[in-house]
Amino acid sequence: MSKTDAATPEIEPAGKSREWNFHPALPISMSPVFDLPPKPKAALNWLLGTWTKLTPPVSHLTFALVAFFLFWPSTEAMKVLSWGWPLQIFVINFAATVILAGALHYYLFILRGQEMQLKFDARPMEKSRRFTFGNQVWDNMFWSLVSGVPIWSAWMILYFWVAANGWVWSLDSVRASPVWFVLFFFVIRFWQSFHFYWIHRLIHIPWLFKNVHHLHHRNVNVGPWSGLAMHPAEHVLYYSGILIHFVLPSHPIHLIFHMFALNLGAIYSHSGFAKLLVRNKEAMKAGSFHHQLHHRYFECNYGSEEIPLDRWFGSFHDGTRAATDRIRARKKRMYASK
Ligand SMILES: [Zn+2]
Ligand SMILES: [Zn+2]
Repeated sequence: MSKTDAATPEIEPAGKSREWNFHPALPISMSPVFDLPPKPKAALNWLLGTWTKLTPPVSHLTFALVAFFLFWPSTEAMKVLSWGWPLQIFVINFAATVILAGALHYYLFILRGQEMQLKFDARPMEKSRRFTFGNQVWDNMFWSLVSGVPIWSAWMILYFWVAANGWVWSLDSVRASPVWFVLFFFVIRFWQSFHFYWIHRLIHIPWLFKNVHHLHHRNVNVGPWSGLAMHPAEHVLYYSGILIHFVLPSHPIHLIFHMFALNLGAIYSHSGFAKLLVRNKEAMKAGSFHHQLHHRYFECNYGSEEIPLDRWFGSFHDGTRAATDRIRARKKRMYASK
């Protein structure tokens, strides 16, 4: 598989266009990890580069360490199902969501801390009858907090109860297997991408799209609270990625990191802005143009940048006009055959 399609398109520098208030350099790139011929140096730089500056995964790990060392219930307590420790996990997850989504929404959309700089879509959040309560932000908060956080917490409570009782293979300490402890963070990243692609393709099957996934797709133009605004059935599937920890030996920090990557990661990736700027200086990467394209054009970019599954299966939108034409033709063919 080559890096780009057979006819290499011209590079369009980052900036404004007819379609976008801001777009990154086009065509957008994917991770070099699966490029052929292999590019070990680029792949290694990409893999390690994430951890050498402030990025969403570094933020998830920070949240996970704070949650684990300061607030997490003890293994002893989690052996017995009760109300106390499950409620504690729910409150931690609820607080992390409100803190991150609330802070990003306040900074980007209320304070307008960087005005329209690096915002993908020119339009504001919507007040429309399409949304619950007739308001996109209230709708998104409702589905995130009333469905997302409880279902995410329920999955975690199930895992920690099972792990505390020794019914799955887990790591009690980093010292027990330091190499696996570090390596597993990389495995989680690719697993998350792989799992997301397949469950996302599943809910794009027309019946499931109409009855389940449509709720998330009412957000064509997205904001931080849109990330977790999903139908409860989608939440159950989305968090089922946690099942990997029932099979591979995990430390609690792996698990908390993975679940924060699914949740806080969606808040960042739907923020609507490519990067966060503080006093006009880049503070960190935030939104995902790859996924923003999915929200605008629907039948493309089901996965994420880590594994180029969309490229392998013909649904990759690289942001160019040629790709828009290709995806529109694909969508027409898909709906014509129904
Ligand atoms: Zn979708
Ligand atoms: Zn989305």
